[in-house]
Amino acid sequence: MAVVVMKFGGTSLANLDRIRNVAAHVKREVDAGNKVAVVVSAMSGVTNQLVAWVREASLLHDAREYDAVVATGEQVTAGLLAIVLQSMGLKARSWQGFQGVEPASNRIATLGRGGSDTSAVAIAIALKADVCDIYTDVDGVYTTDPRIVPKARRLPKVSYEEMLEMASLGSKVLQTRSVELAMVHKMKVRVLSSFVPPDAMQPVMIGHLENIGTIVCDEDEIVEQQVVSGIAYAKDEAKVTLLKVEDKPGVAARIFGPLADANINVDMIVQNVAPDGKSTDMTFTVQATELPRALEVLKQAKADIGYFDVAASADVVKVSVIGVGMRSHAGVAAKMFKALAEKGINIIAISTSEIKISVLIDAAYAELAVRTLHTLYGMDAA
Ligand code: ADP
Ligand code: MG
Repeated sequence: MAVVVMKFGGTSLANLDRIRNVAAHVKREVDAGNKVAVVVSAMSGVTNQLVAWVREASLLHDAREYDAVVATGEQVTAGLLAIVLQSMGLKARSWQGFQGVEPASNRIATLGRGGSDTSAVAIAIALKADVCDIYTDVDGVYTTDPRIVPKARRLPKVSYEEMLEMASLGSKVLQTRSVELAMVHKMKVRVLSSFVPPDAMQPVMIGHLENIGTIVCDEDEIVEQQVVSGIAYAKDEAKVTLLKVEDKPGVAARIFGPLADANINVDMIVQNVAPDGKSTDMTFTVQATELPRALEVLKQAKADIGYFDVAASADVVKVSVIGVGMRSHAGVAAKMFKALAEKGINIIAISTSEIKISVLIDAAYAELAVRTLHTLYGMDAA
């Protein structure tokens, strides 16, 4: 007998037929003698609608009331699934879904978009589950988004660290926090498709998790490690350039201090000597949704920073190459820059860590860049 947490995403629960399909996946596990906890998302599109209503009601809304409204989507699917499971003769009861409780007020709280992934992992840890199965609309984690690159390949296994980078750099197949939590507690997470017929899948058996989907696990459980495992892209960044900033000590602090005080995260930073040779141009990225606030903060700090003008654009995309193999292989970056140059793609900014390289480019080149790099590192499916 295994203890299994099963999480189903919005597309998998989009209507009653699909909820019945989900129930059949659950029944397969229960019939095999496994102990099951299920975590559900809201029906696809519902959370977007709820968020839109909240914003329409007031742009500056109370966060607790946002949570109260947005948490209702999961309550619907949890209740409906419990009803369907009961009608199949299973003992089922619904509880609160991607929600949690805000400790101070005892009111309902949510874990952000994609938060049911994190609920599922947290519940799996609390129940000491043998596996946390994330059922979605693709049959695993791919080398890159399979909807952009048809030649993307499914990864049978991916390390926590690589998955964490992929998620935080734009591969929204798992919420970043869910991967973080799984990594800290060494919870095995599997990504599977709910669209495989329920009776075509074997029930979970401890020690036999490897034939389908993707297992997110420790690096040393992966025998065949590639230098580059995946490519991610994120369209939600915006770039800001401060033109002709006085080039003197302390200027970076005067720019990034006020932004930090306003809780605005700065990601990539590049500094160039300005054409006049005396000043410097400072380019950096922020979340596109934070751009108006960032510009306001910079305007207020203009006299203190001492710059000539500011330019901003949200037409940029961050493309990242990820792989733990980069720790021991040189030349991954050089190869990347050369390949992009050959396609005429200009790099606006670069950032690196031990296991990833990110470049900021014009949004128009996003797909070309992802496809080029996918081929370059030998990831295309045959
Ligand atoms: P759910 O509603 O089930 O949570 P999501 O939309 O959050 O589903 O995540 C699944 C989607 O993630 C897929 O439809 C796919 O387009 C996208 N995706 C992005 N990058 C990847 C990747 N590297 N591998 C698999 N899917 C990816
Ligand atoms: Mg999701």
